[in-house]
Order: sequence, then C-alpha cells, then structure tokens
Amino acid sequence: MDSYEIVILGAGISGMSTAAFLQSKGKKPLILEKRDKVGGVLSSKEIDGYTFDFAANSTVEKYESFFKLIQWAGIEKDLLIANRNASKKYLYRDHQIHALDGPLSYIFTKLLSFRTKLRVLKEPFIAARQSGEDESMADFVKRRFGQEFLDYTLNPLVAGVYAGDPKDLSMQAAYPNMAEMETKHGSVIMGSYHTLKENKKAYKKGKYRPSRNIMSFKRGLNQIPRGIAKKISPQLFLKSEVLEIIPIDGKYQIKYMKEGKEFSLIAEKIISTLPAYVLSSLMKDIDKNLSTELSKIYYPPVGTLNLGFHKEQIGKDLDSFGFLVPEKGNLNFLGALWSSTIFDNRAPKDHASFTLYLGGSRNREILQSDLKKWVSIATKQFSEIMEIEGEPKTKCFKLYEKAIPQYNLGYMNFKKYLDRFHETNNNFIISGNFIGGNSISDCINNAEINANKMI
Ligand SMILES: Cc1cc2nc3c(=O)[nH]c(=O)nc-3n(C[C@H](O)[C@H](O)[C@H](O)COP(=O)(O)OP(=O)(O)OC[C@H]3O[C@@H](n4cnc5c(N)ncnc54)[C@H](O)[C@@H]3O)c2cc1C
Repeated sequence: MDSYEIVILGAGISGMSTAAFLQSKGKKPLILEKRDKVGGVLSSKEIDGYTFDFAANSTVEKYESFFKLIQWAGIEKDLLIANRNASKKYLYRDHQIHALDGPLSYIFTKLLSFRTKLRVLKEPFIAARQSGEDESMADFVKRRFGQEFLDYTLNPLVAGVYAGDPKDLSMQAAYPNMAEMETKHGSVIMGSYHTLKENKKAYKKGKYRPSRNIMSFKRGLNQIPRGIAKKISPQLFLKSEVLEIIPIDGKYQIKYMKEGKEFSLIAEKIISTLPAYVLSSLMKDIDKNLSTELSKIYYPPVGTLNLGFHKEQIGKDLDSFGFLVPEKGNLNFLGALWSSTIFDNRAPKDHASFTLYLGGSRNREILQSDLKKWVSIATKQFSEIMEIEGEPKTKCFKLYEKAIPQYNLGYMNFKKYLDRFHETNNNFIISGNFIGGNSISDCINNAEINANKMI
C-alpha cells in the first residue's frame, strides 16, 4: 500500500489552498477529490461573451494569506479589483432600493424610521447581557438595535453572507467578533470604535494591513484553485471518492473509489476539507459524538441565476454592487449582484450581467419543486425593480442542493467536540468552510494556519 506523509481530503478552495501553502514550505501533500475537477462549489463559466460565477462572485481581502497564495499560484496578473462604485450597496424595502454608502448614509436613508435611527444611537447605553449562553443573531440584534434594524438591515445582510436566517444563526458562532464586542466593551458601537483604534496602533507597529478591496479574477474565482492545480497536478487524484478512514497505529488507512475500483493508501497525517455532512459518516467509528454533531450542521439549498441584458433594456442607473432583500420584502430571491458593474469584463460591450440568489434558509422549499416557475418569477420581480424591458439575452441557472453551512444555534456544542478531537488527535485536522468562516478569504487564511500546524 502506498504511504503519504500528508493527505488532504477535498479539492475545493480550502483543500487546494492548504496544498499550496504546504507545497510552498517544501511538503508534497496528496489530494483526494471526488469530482473530475477542482474548485468544489466554485464554478465560473463563459457563456455568450459573459463570464458568470455561480457560487462566490467576489471576495474581500482580509488577510495577508490571500496575496501570498495568488503570487505563489502565479495568477496575480489576472487579479481584478472592483470598480469604485461597487462600494455602494442597496437594501430593498417597500418596492424600492435604498442606497447605503458608508456609516453616514444610515443617517439620511429612508430605509429606517427616525425612531430606529435614534434607537441605534442608544446602543452604547443598553446594558450588556450577562449570560454567556449561545444567543440567536435575531435576539442579539433586536436587543441591541431594535426590531426594525433587524428586519431591514441585518436580515438582508445575513441572507447575503450565509443565505441564512437570523432566527437560527448563532451570534457567538457566526459573528464571534461582534458578540465579543458586547462582552468586552459593553456595546457593538463602542467595540467597533476600540477595534479601529487598536488596529490603527497595530498597523503602525507593522501588522499587515489588508486592502479590504473587493476582488476576483479575469475568468472568475475558480481561477484560484485552477491556478494551484497547474502547479501541483501529480499529487492531485481526481475522481477519487473517500469511502472510509481507519486509524492504524497512529496513522490512517484511507479507502477511496476511483473509476469503479477501490484503492487504499496510508496517511501519516490528514487534513479534511470535506463538507460536514460527508465527513460525518466517515467519522462514525472514529468519534461518534463528533460525527453526530457534524451531521447537525445544516446546508440550505441555493439557486444561482445569472442574467444578461442589453444596457438599452435597463432603466435603472448601474452604480452599485447590487441589492439585498429582507424576508419581509416578500420577493422570491435573496439579493442581486450587479456583476458587470462590479467587474467590467463580466459582460460584452453595451451589455450588463446580474447574479440573483434564490432559496437559502428562509426560502428553502421553493427549490424543491418547479424550478422553472421560481426562476421566471424571480426574473420578473427583478426586472420590475430594475425597470428592465423585455426578456434577458442570456439566462443561466445552477442549483446547489447543499450550498452554505449554517453556523446555527447548537454550533458551539459542535465546537466543543471539535476542539476535544483536535486536542487528542494532532495528526488529523478538520477544516473547511463550516469552521472559522465561509468566505473565500477565510478559507484561504484557515488553510495557511492548518498548513503551518502540519509542518
Ligand atoms: C451560492 C454561493 C455563493 C457564495 N458567494 C460567496 C461570495 O460571494 N464570496 C465569498 O467569499 N464566498 C462565497 N461563498 C462561499 C464560498 O464559495 C465557499 O464557502 C467555499 O468556496 C467553500 O470551499 P471549501 O473548499 O471549504 O468547500 P467545497 O467547495 O464544498 O469543497 C469540498 C470538496 O470536497 C469534495 N468531496 C466531497 N465529498 C468527497 C469525498 N467523499 N471524497 C473526496 N472528495 C469529496 C467536493 O467534491 C468538493 O470539491 C458562496 C457559496 C455559495 C454556495
């Protein structure tokens, strides 16, 4: 049986970046991936002169690891930085979209009533919660900023990041920094102020200062894993589905299926980046409690609808990143990115492209039947808001049945079992987008941290 020092499970952005960081430090990890391509949920396609992304559309640079990775992969030359007007975002309410362009715009926006604006200003004077128990994001925000702020600001924002429902998401798990601001500084507003001050000091002392630019690549975000694959291909086993992990004398036997045949190999160390629901069944005989907790992590379905129009068809000015929709907006999509406004090359000359997201935790049932009907309703609702006349020139839909892991209430219990597992198994790291953040930036940063632990 072949033996490898480090085996990575899964070739999504988490697995591929982990491999890149390990290789950049002189290691030669093996990657096992079930599908015939790399990138996991990331999928970019060129259709009729448009470049469409189906999962992540862009990412924000939050850590130094992002640039280290793309330099190593040799794809820096294809990096795209979003146009300046992408910093402007809209939120939908009462058949209109309301611009938000920095903190001051909250004062003038018609999105929120005068009463709620005052309520937000009172936040520093609201007593901090004493109990350290897990709390839903909805309860946290309602307690600190009021119901209207929750309904029309937080609710759509959370739909944009997690396709999630604030009533289910855990504040401590999904936004730990914000939860900590309350415990440490008594207030989110005061906490944000202190964080800004502390960061300023740290940057002066030489801490890496992320650009916070919104970024992607000429051919879409899938260029990152594809760029890495080019540099590590001999150690990448595609069409190789992991079936079983058996601990043997401090090492692991991994059984996997490749083109209908079963194979085995020995791994001294494992880094798993498989989705929680896949890893759960592989962990049954290794750690029953952890396996149960992994199976509880919910992935709602999300449908991505990419649309292309001639600019002459569109009445609204295209001056923003796009807009998000609150649950109370009663629309059949969660939000719409104005893809070709963010990055110029996403549509042919004089055309514009948009990416709409359907489903999520709040609307999970609509993706279980009659997809054609829901796509058509969403297109019609979107066209009305954007004052679009006529049919799209191009239309492309992709369904993710299990799209984005939810850091829901109960997650902290999973975390307890996960930490216990890592304390007792230092040659088996569990990672992926259900731990430490689901954004591309988070996945890449966690990949570097995990790679360093294995060296
Ligand atoms: C619709 C949507 C929109 C998003 N928008 C954004 C965005 O705008 N910005 C942003 O930063 N992030 C966004 N995200 C989140 C981000 O894209 C993901 O969190 C990230 O790509 C997940 O990467 P991963 O490698 O952790 O997991 P995955 O991509 O799920 O990779 C896991 C890999 O494991 C493989 N696998 C599964 N089972 C087996 C097995 N038994 N054996 C071997 N391999 C197996 C899979 O085939 C897959 O390749 C979005 C996600 C979705 C779904």
